[in-house]
Amino acid sequence: MIALFTLLMACSIIVGTRGRNRVLGQLAYPCAGCRQHTYHTVVHTRQWLTLYFIPILPLGALDEARCNLCGYREWITSQQVKAWFPSSR
Ligand SMILES: [Zn+2]
Repeated sequence: MIALFTLLMACSIIVGTRGRNRVLGQLAYPCAGCRQHTYHTVVHTRQWLTLYFIPILPLGALDEARCNLCGYREWITSQQVKAWFPSSR
């Protein structure tokens, strides 16, 4: 049992995942969470498979907008991001 636990701990150190965030910009529109007209920060997140903490393979990417007032998060499509920030990619 201890050997299995040690093996699992070693694998979790060798192989893992890591997210990298990039802020694309800010937009002002009414928030669905707090109902205030406030700024939202648009963030692009890319997930990576890591080997010894070094990113080696991209797993996927997501875009989200976070309300600066209440922290409400909503997923947004890549087409919407391209329309809002045409020079971001
Ligand atoms: Zn809000």
